[in-house]
Amino acid sequence: MSGQVQGKVALVTGGASGIGAAIVELLAQEGATVVATDIDELNGPELAARHKKAGRNVTFLQQDVTSEERWIEVVEEVGKRYGRLDVMVSNAGIGIGVPSIVQMTLQDWRRQTAINLDGVFLSVKHSLPLMRKHGGGSIIMMSSLAGLRGAANLAGYCATKGGVRLFAKAIAMECAQVGDGIRVNSVHPGIIDTPIWGKIPTGASGAGQNAPIDPEERARFAAPLGRAGQAIEIAQGVLYLASDASRYVTGTELVIDGGMFAGGVVRQ
Ligand code: NAD
Repeated sequence: MSGQVQGKVALVTGGASGIGAAIVELLAQEGATVVATDIDELNGPELAARHKKAGRNVTFLQQDVTSEERWIEVVEEVGKRYGRLDVMVSNAGIGIGVPSIVQMTLQDWRRQTAINLDGVFLSVKHSLPLMRKHGGGSIIMMSSLAGLRGAANLAGYCATKGGVRLFAKAIAMECAQVGDGIRVNSVHPGIIDTPIWGKIPTGASGAGQNAPIDPEERARFAAPLGRAGQAIEIAQGVLYLASDASRYVTGTELVIDGGMFAGGVVRQ
């Protein structure tokens, strides 16, 4: 451990699984006090207990990121416990795939938008005042490669992640204009081996209804580096944006995708 975020207080949404869990672990290893939140009431407390055992400062709060009431409570709780918030990682998200957009229900469109976009909006709206009180910080929003380019069968997901990308830039401009010391950036993972791939419903792989998607198999040909990424490889990028090493970085997008955005398929 080199203490890259020593003394900082961080809140990570979707912290009970995949990329979020890796971010929680790395920030805590690097000296941050981390509040992990998630809608998942089973894995979240277990994860926090494991960190506590390892001597890391991680607590868990159950939170549905679409609930504004809960956002108010969670930020109040962080303020009460620690008096500050230095790093906000808006990571919670879901993916809903459909063979064709005409099969997308309005209900699913709204559910995905509520978690992926409303959740990020609420994270910023309610964390900014606490961050501003203590002279700044870093907001990191989890977008996707699908926020930079289209993906067949994932139009709704692309719409939310593209929205996150520009929302980050707009808030970065607001914070710079106010001069509040808060930097805002988005992160764009490619194909990362996490449980999300097992949760994407209905044929988003193009291989038929409810076909399970194997990220490794997908990435072997789609990613120039020839493999799926690991959650820790996204967490490393988040650590950089959370730390003072990135103090001159705001309004930008960090793409971590094994080369997918740069060149597309190069392997046969
Ligand atoms: P994951 O499914 O492993 O983790 C997502 C977490 O979000 C889960 O713990 C889940 O319980 C939580 N969550 C879902 N709905 C919630 C809600 N309403 N309130 C609070 N928490 C909620 O997925 P992951 O791959 O770790 O994804 C993390 C983020 O990275 C997501 O925003 C996802 O869109 C993005 N992403 C993932 C990939 C990838 O290939 N895995 C690629 C690009 C972007």
